[in-house]
Formats: sequence, C-alpha cells, structure tokens
Amino acid sequence: MDKEIKEKYLKAGRIAKKTLDMVKTKVKEGIKLADVTDFIEENIKKMGGGLAFPAQISVNNIAAHYAALFEDKTVFKKNDMVKIDIGVHIDGYIADTAITIIVGEKPDEKLERLSLASKEALDNALEIIKPGIEIREIGKIIQDTITKFGFSPVINLSGHGLERYQIHCKPSIPNFDNRTKEKLKEGQVIAIEPFATDGKGKIYESSNASVFSLIEEKPVRSRITREILREIKKYNRMPFSERRLMKKFGKGKTIIALKELMGRNLIQDYPPLPEINGGMISQWEHSVIIEKKPVVFTRDIN
Ligand code: MN
Ligand code: MN
Repeated sequence: MDKEIKEKYLKAGRIAKKTLDMVKTKVKEGIKLADVTDFIEENIKKMGGGLAFPAQISVNNIAAHYAALFEDKTVFKKNDMVKIDIGVHIDGYIADTAITIIVGEKPDEKLERLSLASKEALDNALEIIKPGIEIREIGKIIQDTITKFGFSPVINLSGHGLERYQIHCKPSIPNFDNRTKEKLKEGQVIAIEPFATDGKGKIYESSNASVFSLIEEKPVRSRITREILREIKKYNRMPFSERRLMKKFGKGKTIIALKELMGRNLIQDYPPLPEINGGMISQWEHSVIIEKKPVVFTRDIN
C-alpha cells in the first residue's frame, strides 16, 4: 500500500479510537443519546477527520443503523446495551469501529457475557487473520467463540471491505462459516464486526430510516430539494443523517426534500435493524490493513 494512503488510514483510525475512548465515559444513565451523537460528530471534526457515516447509536435489540433523530428524546437507562459505531475518514480513507457499552454500575451479568462474546470473537478473529487465509475461517472462529458463550452470531450482518469513500465493499466477512473458498489478500482493508445475540441470530429491516445516502445525481425541480441536494453532494455518496440536514435547513424543508429524493430513487435509506425475536445484541468492530503483519488501525496505538 502506498505510504501516503496508509498514513491517512492510520490517522482516521487514531481519531476513531480516541473518540470512542472518550465516549466510554459519557454514556450514562439519564444522558441523552442525541447529546452523545453530537459529541462524537463534533469531536471527529475537531480532530481533523471527516464523518464516513453519521454516529450510529443502536440500543438493545437494534443491531445497527440507528442515528439520532432531529428531536430525539431517547435517554440511556440502566442495563441498556448500547452499540456505538463510528466511521472516520481522511481524504476518503475510512476507519470503521464499534464498541458495546452496558449502561450503569454493576450491569446485568448475562449482558456482560453477551458483550464479551462478540468482543472475544473479534479478538480471536484478529489473531488469525493474514494474507491467504480463507475468509470462511474468520467466520468460523467468530461463530465458534460466540456459540461457546451460549449465544448466537447474527448471520445476516457481516464485516466488509473498505475502499476510498466506500464503506461496504468486497470482500464480505461473514460472522459464521459460509463455506466459500475466497481468501484474504495483501493490501485489502477490511472491517470485522461480530454481532452476538440471545435471540435467533437474524435481523430484519424495519422502517423510519434516519440515515440515507446519495446513489444518483439528476436535476430536481423544487428549489428546496435543489438546495438540500447541494448539501448532500458534499458527503461524497457516504451516508448522512436527517438530523444534520434538519439542523441546517429545518425539519419541514428536509422532510420535503428527502421525500422527493427517495421518490425519484436518487437517495437510498438505511432503516434500523432489529433482531427478529427481539433479542439483545452486542457488537465490536475493528478495521484492519491486510499485510504480512496485519495492522489493526482502530486499535493499536499508531
Ligand atoms: Mn461500523
Ligand atoms: Mn462496518
């Protein structure tokens, strides 16, 4: 990998890690989810990073894709299982990383084990990765680790490749042994993200998305939508939240624009992903540059 590009990945990783370290102390009973969202997004910018996607704070049975609403009233309660998933980019080179926090002193023991299950699954996966390994082996060790804890991996969520300005690329990194023969290659950048649950091990797409991304650029008729589309283009086709648009343009205008853009298939939405049996979900995630000695650039001090 080009040295300058690698430096950009490392810097994105550094900012992401430091941000999550700070967030750990901020998620407490009685604190508003929206305030943590703003802290994360402002901190990333203050440190010189860009948002590769809006801060995702998904609670309990929601696995992912929850971004604070404009007037979000959610307040953290004791024993909430909170997944904080953040994406930082430098010049398009992305670090994607997540942690699970259980709210309150002396949290429920079962929840602690559920968090540990996906955390150990990630640690074990990071131990075995190297160029040439079959990707199914990563899935297998994730599945085996989580199953040993008595929980299930979420099988329809997976890790992924990272490319410039692109968050979900090939190869897909499964959270179970999917029996494909594909191998990891030197120079690839991937995110590994085991999800563990006490439910069935599957998520579904719910409704009322608050995260969107631009998929096609075409002229639009209404003045309001044109103005908001200009703002959306600044995200370089990476996901954005309605919250940020509403802060800038107000709620009414943003709703009109998003509706028109969705109707014309110029943007896509990412609805929250709940577990099908309402199971609790934990998630841990790191991003890695695949080299002879892989670089976990959202973890290692760099
Ligand atoms: Mn992530
Ligand atoms: Mn990811």
